Amino acid sequence: MKAKYTKAELNRFKNLILKKMEEVTREVNDIQSGITNSDAAKSGTSPDSIYSVHMADAGTDSHEREKNYLFMTRENNYLQNLETALDRIEDGSFGICKICGKLIEEERMMEVPNTTKHVECKEREKLGLI
Ligand SMILES: [Zn+2]
Repeated sequence: MKAKYTKAELNRFKNLILKKMEEVTREVNDIQSGITNSDAAKSGTSPDSIYSVHMADAGTDSHEREKNYLFMTRENNYLQNLETALDRIEDGSFGICKICGKLIEEERMMEVPNTTKHVECKEREKLGLI
């Protein structure tokens, strides 16, 4: 049982995280520009406003926007988590359980890169057993 991830493994995680950050940033930007466009269309300042009014039914539009904002909040949180994970790779605490000090399995780190605890350790902490 290893106590730490090797430099090569950490690099692999880092690349994966950076790639995810890029993807998420792109998605957020796409949606952001969508929201900005429809806001501009509503105030009538956009040259595309006639097109937009024809394309979007008002009710669906506000529902869509609400959905987009929820999505963006979630994506921004996710981005922050990924940044935290990068910090932990830099300071060497990445993948090490804060509770038992042992290595957290690779699959879990891939799924939740900013995690600092084993599932079991987290459960035990929640139950007040630690
Ligand atoms: Zn643990």
